[in-house]
Amino acid sequence: MEGYRETDMCVRCGGKCCQLQPGHCLPSEFGSEEAVMDALNSGRYGVILLLDSDIRARVLRPHYKKRDQRVGCIFHQANGCELPWEDRPYGCRMLRPRERDGEHCKPEGISISEAARMWERSGYLPPMPYLGFE
Ligand code: SF4
Ligand code: SF4
Repeated sequence: MEGYRETDMCVRCGGKCCQLQPGHCLPSEFGSEEAVMDALNSGRYGVILLLDSDIRARVLRPHYKKRDQRVGCIFHQANGCELPWEDRPYGCRMLRPRERDGEHCKPEGISISEAARMWERSGYLPPMPYLGFE
């Protein structure tokens, strides 16, 4: 499975990425409308709407840890991500950790915008009003 595992840099960093926003999932990680509904009903995953002049599309990813402030990932714990690496969202696995202090960690592969377009095409998501979007 493609992606990057945690490095010593991640341990030192303490998961700043996970404290900010959850990574995005791909439709292929769920595979059916039923699996998506199960994930949403578990309360551990949610759908966000990307909305600007170029895009209006939904993407599924883990829920926020602090829902009122819309920050953090529900799976982030004091000792790191509680999910086994293989079960982590695509966007999490594809974030390449920086190698040196002062550098940026680099998202690679399918961007969140591309993932959102894939989700819209998948037919796995419930209707907009069900999700609370107009
Ligand atoms: S990927 Fe980057 S931000 Fe995330 S834990 Fe590793 S070093 Fe920190
Ligand atoms: S699923 Fe795990 S790796 Fe991804 S943002 Fe949440 S805590 Fe971090």
